[in-house]
Amino acid sequence: MEPNELLNYKEPAPITDKENPFESMMERFDVAAEMLGLEKGVYEYLKTPVKQIIVSIPIQMDNGEIEVFEGYRVIHNDILGPSKGGLRFAPDVNINEVKALAAWMTWKCAVVNIPFGGAKGGVRCDPAKLTPVELEKVTRRYTANMLDIFGEDKDIPAPDMGTNEQVMAWIMDTYSMHMKRTATGVVTGKPLIIGGSLGRREATGRGVMMVTLGAMEKIKLKPKETVIVVQGFGNVGSVTAQLLQQQGCKVVGLGDVTGGYFSKKGIDVEKAIEWVKTHKVLSGFTGAEKITQSELLELECDVLVPAAKEDQITARNAPKIKAKIIAEGANGPTTAKADPILKEKGIIVIPDILANAGGVTVSYFEWVQDRVGYFWSLDRVNRRLERMMTAAFNSVYETAELYKVSLRIGAYIMAIDKVAKTLKVRGIYA
Ligand code: GLU
Repeated sequence: MEPNELLNYKEPAPITDKENPFESMMERFDVAAEMLGLEKGVYEYLKTPVKQIIVSIPIQMDNGEIEVFEGYRVIHNDILGPSKGGLRFAPDVNINEVKALAAWMTWKCAVVNIPFGGAKGGVRCDPAKLTPVELEKVTRRYTANMLDIFGEDKDIPAPDMGTNEQVMAWIMDTYSMHMKRTATGVVTGKPLIIGGSLGRREATGRGVMMVTLGAMEKIKLKPKETVIVVQGFGNVGSVTAQLLQQQGCKVVGLGDVTGGYFSKKGIDVEKAIEWVKTHKVLSGFTGAEKITQSELLELECDVLVPAAKEDQITARNAPKIKAKIIAEGANGPTTAKADPILKEKGIIVIPDILANAGGVTVSYFEWVQDRVGYFWSLDRVNRRLERMMTAAFNSVYETAELYKVSLRIGAYIMAIDKVAKTLKVRGIYA
């Protein structure tokens, strides 16, 4: 190619199902905003993040070399209270994704009616390739960079993809060292011994189970007659599969990064959990036959739970999905382009901002317990979670019926309306 031709040369657009996650969020936001008749200024206010922070995280690796990672924190909105949201460690995380995830947290907290705004954080790294020492350094340096942002009354991180209880403990410790006091309430999803809450680890999966049972009841599906497929076998997917099986449902498909696993007569989820405890992944699991990721999503079933990552159900595979209910355990597993196809097929989609809100709900309980210094029994945590998830499910359902829209748009309408009304009452400071 000649140099002048090179100037005009445009890479052909890659064939991909990935949508820009922020735009995907905004497409739904726009539909809900229009139905609510949101005024232009309020619309602009709600779509714009309050703060976006990008930091560099230089680390001396175990081999003595310095590597520089990039870290993000986006506070989408804090009008309902301190901002809340997880911290993601992943090799492909970027500011755009974090922005979308932060906005989803704003809507999620509003849907379950907890006094938090929405935020999200990320560090572009592959936690599987870091040694424990390097992981600790990344976490502590990230936290040190965020000392002005984090705070019990300001912004409270939690686990998300690639982070866990241990990472939360390092955040709590680093923040506490700088503040010269033990600040347990600055982060949630911590180990029990430093102020974590009973039931927090299982909370997201438990919440998914609760709203799934709620949707099943609406279409008169009894647990004993219900066939389930779960994509993702981390904290959310494994607990959802386990709890739905305990309710009497038959789990015929499971999946993780290594592929899909299918058994027509049902998979023993407890055995799969045991397998993953020793082997880390489902690969080699003998209780099911191996299938592909796309076959897994297209299996014959009543309920499909995408609990892995974004952009799994797309315009390309939506026409082939056979489930009657989709319960979104992950954030953003369905692209905006797939929504109308699923609606046309009459599939009930329990949207992420409702379905996986059990996690942040028990994070709220953890924060309350830390602040009061009085810790609840598991029974109390689970009963209160059930009360809040049921109330949220019913309100979303009623809003969707009232506006004659999907549960997703119903949930957005509810959330946007709440945040917009709060803005009206507080007013704009200037
Ligand atoms: N990362 C979880 C979510 O996406 C939990 C957030 C939290 O507990 O603050 O909902």
